[in-house]
Amino acid sequence: MTDIKANLKRIEERIAEAASRVGRDPAEITLVAVSKFHGVDDVRAAYEAGQRDFGENYAQHMRDKADALAELPDIRWHFIGHLQRNKAKYVAPSAALLETVDSQKLVNELEKQAKKLGRILPCLVQVNVGGEEQKSGCDSSEAAALVQAVERADNLRLEGLMTIPPWDLDPDQTRVYFRALRALRDELGGPGRLPHLSMGMSHDFEEAVEEGATLVRVGTAVFGPRPDAQQ
Ligand SMILES: *Cc1c(COP(=O)(O)O)cnc(C)c1O
Repeated sequence: MTDIKANLKRIEERIAEAASRVGRDPAEITLVAVSKFHGVDDVRAAYEAGQRDFGENYAQHMRDKADALAELPDIRWHFIGHLQRNKAKYVAPSAALLETVDSQKLVNELEKQAKKLGRILPCLVQVNVGGEEQKSGCDSSEAAALVQAVERADNLRLEGLMTIPPWDLDPDQTRVYFRALRALRDELGGPGRLPHLSMGMSHDFEEAVEEGATLVRVGTAVFGPRPDAQQ
C-alpha cells in the first residue's frame, strides 16, 4: 500500500529544501495533491495527514468527490484539467481555485456560473508557454487580454498563471518553461497582479520551486501510480 502520509511529509521536505536553495520562504509554496483517478479514501487519508489542497482534472470527478467529502469544510479543490464550457457548472460550486482559464468564452461562462451561485471564483490563466507542442492553455500572446478579462469579471478573481510543459521532458528541460511563465508574469505586472505561479509535477516540482512556483501539482509522488495509468 502507498504510504500517503510519508509521501506527503517527504514532498514537503523536498519543497522546503528547494526553496531554501534559492532563498525562498517555503511557506510561500502550496502543495496541491493531484488525486485524479484515485478514490475518496485516498483523499481522506491525505486529509487526515494534514493535506488540504487537492487537484482534479475532470469536472464530474471533482464534483462527485467534493460531494462525497462535503463534511471536510476546509478542503480546497483545484481544477487543473481542460474545462469545456458546458462543464463549467460542475466545477463552479466547489473549486477553490480554477487553474485552467484559457479562453474569453470560458471566462464568460465561469462569470455566469459564479454570479448564479453568488460567489467569487478565484482563477488562474493557463498559458501554453511551450508553443505548438501541447494544446492546452492560451498562447503567450493572448495572455494579457485574458488576464484583463478575468480582472474585469465581477465574480472572478485573478490569482495568477499556470502552465503544463510537454509531459516527456526531463526536469532540466522543463526549467525553460517555468522561466518563461515567470518572465510572462513579470511582463504582465509581477506578483502584485499575479501572485500565483502554478507549475511543477512529481518529476520536476523541485525545479519549479527553484524557478518561482507558488503552487506545485503533485500526483504520483503522493498517491502512487494512477489506477488507470492515465495522464
Ligand atoms: C496529472 C497532473 C499532474 C500531476 O502529475 P504527476 O506526474 O502524477 O505528479 C499535475 N498537473 C496536471 C495538470 C495534471 O494533469
